[in-house]
Amino acid sequence: MTTENILVTGGAGFIGSHYVRTLLGPAGPPGVRVTVLDKLTYAGDLARLAPVRDHPRFTFHRGDVTDAALVDALVGTHGQIVHFAAESHVDRSISSAGAFVRTNVLGTQTVLDAALRHGAGRFVHVSTDEVYGSVASGSCTEHAQLRPASPYAASKASSDLLALACHRTHGLDVRITRGSNTYGPWQHPEKAVPRFVTELLAGRKVPLYGDGLQVRNWLHLDDHVQGIELVRTRGRSGEVYNIGGGTDLSNLQLARLLVALCGAEPGMIEHVADRPGHDRRYAIDITKARTELGYRSRREFSQGLAETVAWYRESRRPTGARGGPGAAAVGAGDR
Ligand code: NAD
Repeated sequence: MTTENILVTGGAGFIGSHYVRTLLGPAGPPGVRVTVLDKLTYAGDLARLAPVRDHPRFTFHRGDVTDAALVDALVGTHGQIVHFAAESHVDRSISSAGAFVRTNVLGTQTVLDAALRHGAGRFVHVSTDEVYGSVASGSCTEHAQLRPASPYAASKASSDLLALACHRTHGLDVRITRGSNTYGPWQHPEKAVPRFVTELLAGRKVPLYGDGLQVRNWLHLDDHVQGIELVRTRGRSGEVYNIGGGTDLSNLQLARLLVALCGAEPGMIEHVADRPGHDRRYAIDITKARTELGYRSRREFSQGLAETVAWYRESRRPTGARGGPGAAAVGAGDR
């Protein structure tokens, strides 16, 4: 077994697929073998993996991270695991949290159990800044208290704690990333940026939760993937790393930028009732990733956002859009 034999769970999703495309791309580690395990829920889309489908070092398995036998078989032949698979949409977790507990908590434990059984060399757990909850002032280091508000964030915080427990109790090499709001091409249209752009381009109004003054940190997909890969290759076992971008914006500011980029009228933003438990402000301190790993966000926000809008304009195809209960109730700032 080689240590550069990586099992990527959730690799047909927005961030996981870009991670896989990057690993197998020209700048990826030479010789790395990548296996994706993905259930292909409404959020998964094999089209995102089309660029690597015929790559000789790529394999895809459709399956569920809670399927212990399947996970055991796959983990047994891989030295490292990068764990993206999750239910990821906050609104859906508010409507119904069961799938979030099942996939995000039980699924993570299932993969951890297999990693322990087979003595996996590394387990990178992809988490989120939402676990810290709303931050009135200042910013959260990795030692800040976890105060998740939504069932989604609570399920991610639970999985972080289980992964860290596995390190402390059994010595598994676990590394956790906590990334901020990620934007870029090929995101499911239930999420804020693609939802806004696709609606505006179709000439429809976009819904903005409450007063729109909720603040989020925006991280380009390239930078999120760069941060995860730095944690995998240079991070320390048992450590958590915040990964953020250089731009903080209120949802209203973001909506106005997207209206302008789509060439729409300012009146196309429609305020709707706020989401229950909506966090006012996320803010992470990324000093640790910068100083220990040499991480810095490279993508300039206005250019990254313009390119992202251009991508949706050109593709005009709602990626992975098979609808569902959460798809209708979205405002800016959602993941
Ligand atoms: P996504 O919803 O686009 O992709 C999730 C993928 O997981 C999909 O391909 C889906 O089919 C798969 N999946 C879901 N349940 C599964 C199961 N039971 N078994 C196997 N596969 C399953 O999510 P994303 O935005 O790419 O996020 C990936 C990870 O990054 C998640 O863990 C999320 O919490 C985290 N994250 C996301 C953001 C963001 O802004 N999108 C920010 C920080 C952290």
